[in-house]
This record gives sequence, structure tokens and C-alpha cells, in this order.
Amino acid sequence: MRFEVTTLGTGAALPAHGRNHSAHVVHHGDDVYLVDCGEGTQERLRQQGVKFQRIKAIFISHLHGDHYLGLMGLLSTLHLLGRQQPLQLFVPEMLEPLLQLHFKASRTYLRYPLQVAVNPTESGICIMQSTQIQVTSLVLRHRVPCTGFVFKESLPLRKLRPEMVAQIPLYKRQAIKAGEDLQLPDGSVLTNTALTLAPPPPRSFAYCSDTAYAPELLPHLQGVDMLYHEATFANDMAARAKETMHSTAAQAATMARDAKVGQLLLGHFSGRYRSTDALLAEALAIFPSTIACQEGATYALRRADQ
Ligand SMILES: [Zn+2]
Repeated sequence: MRFEVTTLGTGAALPAHGRNHSAHVVHHGDDVYLVDCGEGTQERLRQQGVKFQRIKAIFISHLHGDHYLGLMGLLSTLHLLGRQQPLQLFVPEMLEPLLQLHFKASRTYLRYPLQVAVNPTESGICIMQSTQIQVTSLVLRHRVPCTGFVFKESLPLRKLRPEMVAQIPLYKRQAIKAGEDLQLPDGSVLTNTALTLAPPPPRSFAYCSDTAYAPELLPHLQGVDMLYHEATFANDMAARAKETMHSTAAQAATMARDAKVGQLLLGHFSGRYRSTDALLAEALAIFPSTIACQEGATYALRRADQ
């Protein structure tokens, strides 16, 4: 099943050098989740051919403009496009009144239900759970309350053993994939392990932006297949990173190494860097499976143990 991340914006507060504000698309199967929604996100979603009506939920990490100022425009566009299905929004506490004020002032009455939930103040809290995926929170270290998110596949169904399929009535197959045993007409029982193979382990993606170096998050990031971590500065600006509660690329790589993740994506690059080569080099020296995100590029999850 498809599990990929598309980076729509790799810039920090100041858009520069062709880098846009933060926005990331998580594709899982046919579902689309949007994480952060900086200015112009809806145009970049269109450029990437993302189907707006497939967006199931939007997650906003914090209320710095480069992470959410595209949200009102996108919500209005969904309304104009005739969306009727509910949209889940996971947001910082003060965003809901901001949205309500905007809709009131513009006399906009959305056609679709907006289901708004406030981001938790603790890490490891499950905020969304479906049959396909679950999302938990990360409390990041930033100048305003800031939340990261871990997307982890819900336990997939077991697979029927090919040699046993003929013995399993069609109407029983779904229940057996879910773990049931099979009672035969003579009263004997075939156990589930005799009928099925274990599914592959669930894959996971973690999103950490914006944050200072936060090693207390390591237990929540342990073994994730892909980690997106902000890397606003290179080592030459480590003091500035600390002051502004951002990370250096080396700190992001240290987090990836210590959490034993599969792959590290770097983003949120300061406008002072025309090229991200130096940041990437500093990260690679610590964690070899590092990629500096490119605008509009899509990255498939690779299992952490591969
Ligand atoms: Zn910020």
C-alpha cells in the first residue's frame, strides 16, 4: 500500500531561493493528510495533482504564519468546490477562534462539517485512529506551543496462506484475516496461525517542525521508518538556532541516529542559505540516510530495518 510524503514547502519563515512555506502531504493508500499549510499551499497541491476531496484531515503544528496562513484559503476552496464530507482539523488552541472570526467576518457558511480538535499538551496521545492509520502527538520545543505528529499504520490484516484458501468459505475470509479460527463441519478447529501468515509490521512517519533539539522525544521516535525534522540552520548558526528555538541539520541527524530511524528528511531551511549542500553534508556526517527535501518531491517510506 502506498505510504509516501510529498514536500510542498522546504523554506523557513522567509520564502527564498524557490523554497516555499511549510506544507507536507502524507499519502496513505487513497487517503491524503496535510501537515501544515503555509501560504500558497492550495496552488502547490494543484501543481502536484493532489485531489482536494481526498484530504481527510489537516494537521497544523503551530501558529507561526509560515505554517498555517494558507489554511483559510484552502478551507474556502474546499467549500467552493462543493465538499460535503466532514474535514478533521487538528490545530493549536487559538486557531479555532481565529477561523470562526474569519468565517463570521466574510459571512462564509461552510457546506461541510469542520471537526476541530485542539492539539494535546503531552506527547504520545492518540489524536486520530482509523482502520488504516493512527496519529499521535509530539510536544516540540518552540517559542509558541508546537506539536509534531507520528503517523503509524494500524495493524494490517493477516494474509491467508495460499495453500489454505480453498478450505476457507468466502464469507469467513475477512474474519479470519482479522484473527478468527475456523470451525470445520466435523467440529474440529483450524487455528488462525494454521490459516494465515503474519502481516508485515506497520510503517510509520514522524513530523518534527519547528523545534529546538529535543532528545526527550526519542522514545516516541524510536524506529520510525521516516523522520521529517526541521534543519533551519547549519553549524555556523548553532547559537542562533538555540536562541530562536530551531535546530541545526546536525541536531536533526543526531535525533535520527539516536532514534534509529530508517530515513531522515531535512527541511525548513533558513533563507540565508541559497544552497542546502552544507546542511546536508553536516547531517550526512552523523546519519548517512539523510535527504535534503526538494520542493514538490515525493519520498516513499522505506522500512527502518532495511
Ligand atoms: Zn515556528
